[in-house]
Amino acid sequence: MQISTTHNAQPVTDARLAEILANPGFGQYFTDHMFTVEWTPAEGWHDARITPYGPLTLDPATAVLHYAQETFEGMKAYRHEDGSIWSFRPEENAARMARSSKRLAFPVLDEADFVQAVDELVAVDQRWVPDSTGEKSLYVRPFMIATEKFLGVRPSQHVTFMVIASPAGAYFKGGVKPVTLWLTEEYTRAGRGGMGAAKTGGNYASSLVAQQEASAHGCDQVVFLDAQEGKYVEELGGMNMYFVFDDGHIVTPATGTILEGITRSSIIELAGKLGHQVEERRFSIDEWREGVTSGRITEIFACGTAAVVTPVGSLKWEGGEVPAPVGTELTMKVRQALVDIQYGRAEDAFGWMHRI
Ligand code: PMP
Repeated sequence: MQISTTHNAQPVTDARLAEILANPGFGQYFTDHMFTVEWTPAEGWHDARITPYGPLTLDPATAVLHYAQETFEGMKAYRHEDGSIWSFRPEENAARMARSSKRLAFPVLDEADFVQAVDELVAVDQRWVPDSTGEKSLYVRPFMIATEKFLGVRPSQHVTFMVIASPAGAYFKGGVKPVTLWLTEEYTRAGRGGMGAAKTGGNYASSLVAQQEASAHGCDQVVFLDAQEGKYVEELGGMNMYFVFDDGHIVTPATGTILEGITRSSIIELAGKLGHQVEERRFSIDEWREGVTSGRITEIFACGTAAVVTPVGSLKWEGGEVPAPVGTELTMKVRQALVDIQYGRAEDAFGWMHRI
């Protein structure tokens, strides 16, 4: 893909950038540039460009504002100690975006073009990638939106794919702490034939009220069950789950309606290499309760790009609670192994890192 670049004539100053990178938080500051490419049926994908970061001008009738035809990705660029910059399995994000695009009736952006767009934006804004101390990174947000000005309900005939980036601080400031979970019995995130496996805004809009319910009950995150039978664990609002048994085998829910995380699939390979048998299967809430109570489940953890891996503490629901499992040993081992690969501190035995 041919990408034209117009540099920002007023990039953030070095002094301001140093201040931002010292304490970036999450999703608050954006780099000096953005990537855009557009699609129409007649022209296909065209006019790929990197331009100064700035607001979009959209007609109020733009389709995405009404019917939520959109999909997005979330990934990170990491700076290694020698100053080089790397992303983690970007081709997996490209492939997932292609799957989400099909589900949302979008044209598919070539996976190599997706990776190139991310690489070139990060390269242009490389001074925004924080150094390797702590667990800072540059969070990259590719997204595709329906930009046709038309109120009819049908796949948009004008589509825009963009990439923006935002420096991110360590997810856990004072060290890794278990997250407490709220089991929502009222809301589900995905039904059979729905959009659960796609990364699309509507899934996150629908999770907000359940997350509010979790916060109101003093919990950090919400757990969703399957919509069909209301008894199988799916995932958290933005993370996948793992259950560790006392005989060393581990289970991660598979239902066809979860968002298949890239961290989740990496852990399947990593845990296998560490000698653990990994099962992808349906996992009921009763098995969770009985497993922790009997001591057969020794650890539970959640995983995703933002937090990498986090231990799961207690689970609460209306009128009940399951305490935290006893251990975090494998959880912390898997977490460290992944972080070490991402920051170039361990050998990349799986070939997961991609140099930018
Ligand atoms: N589930 C949901 C609903 C998510 O939003 C995310 C974050 N993308 C994940 C799981 C974890 O996916 P990944 O490991 O690719 O970040």
